[in-house]
Amino acid sequence: MTQQAQRQATSIEASSPYELRVNLSSGTSESAVKTALTTGDVGFLHSFTTGSTVDGPGVRLVAWTAGCQWRCLYCHNPDTWNMMNGMPVTLDHAIEEVGKYRHGLKVMSGGITLSGGEPLMQDRFAVKLLRACKEMGVHTAIETNGYLGSRLSDEDLNSIDLVLLGLKTWDRDRHQRLTGKDNANTLELARRLAAHKIPIWVRFVLVPGLTDDPGDVAQIANFAARLGNVERVEVLPFHQLGRFKWQRLGLDYTLNDVQSPSPELIDWACDVFRAEGLQAF
Ligand code: SF4
Repeated sequence: MTQQAQRQATSIEASSPYELRVNLSSGTSESAVKTALTTGDVGFLHSFTTGSTVDGPGVRLVAWTAGCQWRCLYCHNPDTWNMMNGMPVTLDHAIEEVGKYRHGLKVMSGGITLSGGEPLMQDRFAVKLLRACKEMGVHTAIETNGYLGSRLSDEDLNSIDLVLLGLKTWDRDRHQRLTGKDNANTLELARRLAAHKIPIWVRFVLVPGLTDDPGDVAQIANFAARLGNVERVEVLPFHQLGRFKWQRLGLDYTLNDVQSPSPELIDWACDVFRAEGLQAF
């Protein structure tokens, strides 16, 4: 199938973000990509999925953006790392898609969640889309690793009702090994959101042997509790659902032998957060 035919055959709606999607923007010129990133009038999306009950409050429409600078060892969507794997979608089209669901989303106490990949790789598109959603009365959430948080002005923050913030691990060297990047920007965004009283749901992926160091988890819990705007902590058990993507993309997957955490380990991690007065699930 040619790349153009592949693009035409691929719908922006997907049954699951686990669908492998590659090269959907490969025909797009470099200058068009630069213009899109500057203006935000076009976004590069892996897909839209509907009916999610795990990506924010109520029932959510989720827009999965393409592009991420991190390389988390446990990433289950490595096809979203490269922005060119996403499909170019005009801002108007994206707003139209949300508009189709807005009444249902309100009835189901839900909204839209921008996830990825890393949505702030396309910060202008993200802000324009979320602002338009808020104007439609749709609750807005963004899932981010926080690394590019400084791209958001204080005014931009007004378009976000909730941030699902990934806190991966506390120790800086361990964080660098786990994700390829430092966590200072992430922590800074968390403090800024606290100052602006924008709620955070912390997302913490529990990987046996990688993110279950007791001292580390305790530090994250203490930091999150002191912020004052963390409404809940989601302890997400590591799983192997994304392994096939690493294999299909020819990437070196190092977690083949890592098991999902036991129920006891999950309970232990939740208890560490609860001990700081946080709600953890
Ligand atoms: S930040 Fe998210 S999308 Fe980026 S590599 Fe990590 S898990 Fe994957």
